[in-house]
Amino acid sequence: MLYTFAHRTYRLPLNPPLRTAHGRWDWREGIIVRLEDEAGWVGYGEAAPVPGHGTETWAEVDQLCRAFGDRVSAEELARVPGRFGCLRFALALAQARPEPALPIGRLGVAALLPAGRGALPALAARLEAGYLAFKWKVGVAPVEEELGVFDDLLAELPAHARLRLDANGAWNRRQAGRWLDRCAGRPVEFVEQPLVPDDEDGLRGLAGDYPVCLALDESVVRLEEARRWQAQGWPGVFVLKPALAGPLEETARWIESTRADVVLSSALETVLARSAILRWALARQLTRRPLGFGVGGVFGARRWDGPEIGPLADSSCLANDPGKELWTALD
Ligand code: MG
Repeated sequence: MLYTFAHRTYRLPLNPPLRTAHGRWDWREGIIVRLEDEAGWVGYGEAAPVPGHGTETWAEVDQLCRAFGDRVSAEELARVPGRFGCLRFALALAQARPEPALPIGRLGVAALLPAGRGALPALAARLEAGYLAFKWKVGVAPVEEELGVFDDLLAELPAHARLRLDANGAWNRRQAGRWLDRCAGRPVEFVEQPLVPDDEDGLRGLAGDYPVCLALDESVVRLEEARRWQAQGWPGVFVLKPALAGPLEETARWIESTRADVVLSSALETVLARSAILRWALARQLTRRPLGFGVGGVFGARRWDGPEIGPLADSSCLANDPGKELWTALD
């Protein structure tokens, strides 16, 4: 199969900017690819690398796309190296043909709370909106300060609600131990990436030493990394950002065949990648855990963000064929 190939770059302000343990993130850069097959069928995909998250960079994606030229074969596309998880996701999406429509189910959504004391008013607003699962970014301020806010958050949390903590690898082993001691017996669904991905012994040690469920995120950016941790007996959750992991079909097949305990999470992609991921997740019920897509409007523009996602994701969250609109907007 030979395709006509083209790609376009988007660079959009994150509105509002995101504060994590990696610092402040103001701009989102990604690439939309367009593939047209010999029968004239056109498909679009999105590569949305995350700086500092272990993915390939925007510049690397751009370079490979330029190397394809304007004609590319399916064999060439299949030869993109495994570490290009974002580009492989994009190309598979652009090559995919519409499947017979599966019934779209529903899944809960976890709302993202801002780092620091700002989490408190945000929690009140999200509770009001009907959310029951929350994710709070920690590891941004000193431990003692954040533990104080943590206690205040739990005091506001209704009995049936759960809190996820995401340290983005910011703690050392001693700090992680203090946090996990404090989390024991509290309504904490899991603690995400307490240590840097390189400290694999430390991560396994914490999982064995504390009764709190742990989740890997930065450790399992690409599906092959999740496979390795799973083979080594990781007892906790895998937070997968499907837009970074590789082709959706491969990710879905791994989840279904191994029954991995996953959270499917946003990588702050546009409506193009997001709709494709949610369609798969909702139709195939790939997880029982609330989706990590409660990030609100990422770009503050409906064209790029797509339909609003509330506390319960269903077919109303899916955009119909958003690729063409974004492609045209980038002309
Ligand atoms: Mg995370």
